[in-house]
Parts: sequence; C-alpha cells; structure tokens
Amino acid sequence: MNDEPRPAGPGDLLQPTADGLYCPAGDFYIDPRRPVARAVVSHGHADHARPGSQSYLAAAPGACILRRRLGERIRLQTLAYGERLTLGGVTLSLHPAGHILGSAQVRLELGGEIWVVTGDFKTEPDPTCAPFEPVRCHTLVTESTFGLPVFRWPPPAAVMAEIRQWWRENRAAGRTSVLFAYALGKAQRVLAQIGAEDGDVFTHGAVEVVNACYRKAAVRLTDTRPVADAADRRAFRGALVVAPPSADHAGWLRRFPDAVRGFASGWMRIRGHRRRRGVHRGFVLSDHADWSALKAVVAESGAQRVWATHGYAAVFGAWLRSRGLDAAVLTENGLIPSAAPAQGDA
Ligand SMILES: [Zn+2]
Ligand SMILES: [Zn+2]
Repeated sequence: MNDEPRPAGPGDLLQPTADGLYCPAGDFYIDPRRPVARAVVSHGHADHARPGSQSYLAAAPGACILRRRLGERIRLQTLAYGERLTLGGVTLSLHPAGHILGSAQVRLELGGEIWVVTGDFKTEPDPTCAPFEPVRCHTLVTESTFGLPVFRWPPPAAVMAEIRQWWRENRAAGRTSVLFAYALGKAQRVLAQIGAEDGDVFTHGAVEVVNACYRKAAVRLTDTRPVADAADRRAFRGALVVAPPSADHAGWLRRFPDAVRGFASGWMRIRGHRRRRGVHRGFVLSDHADWSALKAVVAESGAQRVWATHGYAAVFGAWLRSRGLDAAVLTENGLIPSAAPAQGDA
C-alpha cells in the first residue's frame, strides 16, 4: 500500500486547473472546459471538444467531426496517429483510443518522463474507428466512466445480433423499430454492422450529419435515408430508424406506424436505467471501457501513478490504491486523494 497519494506538484507534466488539464512546459490544455489559447482535443464529443479556443490540435481522422461541432473556421492542426510534435520541450503524440472516429489518447514526454491521457476509450472491436493502442507511461490519466464491477459488456457481435433479431421480429409484425443511439459514434457503429439486406434504414438529421463525416473518412456504413425525406409514413413500416436519445418524445415518434423503441447504451446494463428510459428494449452497447478493460489498460500501461476521471472515479481510484498504485481522482475542482479501500476487489 502506498502512503498518501502524491498531490499534483510544480514538477508534474500536467496540472489540474479550473480551465482543465494544463501542461505548463508545453503551454497547452487537454480537453479544456473553457476557451484557451491552445487546446489539444481527444475527440469530438461535447464534453471534450468545446468551442471558443484560439487553436485546436487533434487526430486527423476526427477533423470533419470537430469542424462540424466547433465551426468550419476554427484553427485546427491535425496529427496522424503516432506522429510527433514538439511544443515547448514536450514531445506530444496522439494514439488511437478506439472510442469513436478520430478519438485519441494524448502522450506527452519530457526528459524521459511519460504521461498519457486516455480521453474516452474502449478496447472492444469497432469497425468505425482505429483500434485502441496500449501506450506505456509513468503516469496515466484515465477515464473511469464505467468504473464499477457491475459494468461488464457482452461481446459486441452478440449485441449486434440481438438488435438484428429485434428488428426482424418487429418487421414481421409490421412495426417500426426506432433505435436510440448517441448521434456521434454509437449510431455509426450500428449502421456499420447492420446491412441494407435487413431492410430500409432511416436516420434522424443529427445522425445523418455525422454519417457524412464517417463516409468521408471511408468508413463503410449501410445505406441510410433521412427520415425527413420519406414521402409518407408508410415508408417506415418494417424499417429501422436510428435517432439520438433527444428525439425520444411523442412529437417526433408520432410519424412512425406502431413504433417499438430500443436504446443502445452501456447504461442499459443497469435495470433502473432501462426502466427510467421506459424503452421496450435495452441493448448493452458502450463506447467506453468496462470494469475489466479499465483494469487491463492501467496494467498494460505500466503506470505507477494514475488519475481517474469521469463516472465512478472514486471507486476505481480506491481499487487502484488497493493494488498499490498511487491513485487520485481528477474532478472539475482539481485532484483529490482516492479513499483507501476497505478491501481489494478482483
Ligand atoms: Zn466521448
Ligand atoms: Zn466523455
């Protein structure tokens, strides 16, 4: 067991600040919460890519997504995965995080000291983005969205088979299958693995905008038609409609004959979430690491010091401490020590 976790010190490559994770030696922020001079952005989700910064640096495959989200005229510099750039004395490179198209882990090196910020990541196969790449480091800043032992994902291929089967049954009954999935990443993952041979696929406008970026990046998605383009509601009978969760309301759903609603998310692992959403079917499909993948990635990194952030960071941090690591929880208010765990949990 370690002594008290080390607080962030002036010698550290990254400093938690009110604006986000700051690298003093290189004078840049990673996924800053507020506009800054230089933002390094791990990926295009709204809680990581925020508007208003003077310049952005990101992995090349995510450029289209970032411009759609932050504005076509942002100052955006891109790097290929693995390409190195020196900022101040810091060598920076971006490595696939396997989360969505263009998602990256940020690797920093200064004087032989290596830090990695995972951003959001998953290690499961996903045909719509480059696979997660393990990166060795001394200090790892890792997401821990699903850092509870209850979160264990079924194989994605099995979940995809469940979705197809659900759609097939609904189609046979003449009903419309409306599948809610996050518009950036999750929707495309489904559309890459469900073929047009299953029937007609329609998309909400928010999904179709992102689809365009994926197709531009040569990610193969099944043929889709925007819901708005359908001549009349009969076109939807037996079809699959992919829409963001925000579209789950009576006004939008009224256009579909006998809609059956499904939701694809890691949160569907928890019965309370399924009930609260009130959907007919929950499909456990996440773009984040589950409990065992989180543990495996920390082990593979070789890091002795870990900052856990997002979701169940306190639980995951405590578990890491039980394994003898110098673990702390990174919150919006800075770094807080991980509680000493009562006992280890395998
Ligand atoms: Zn994300
Ligand atoms: Zn996130």
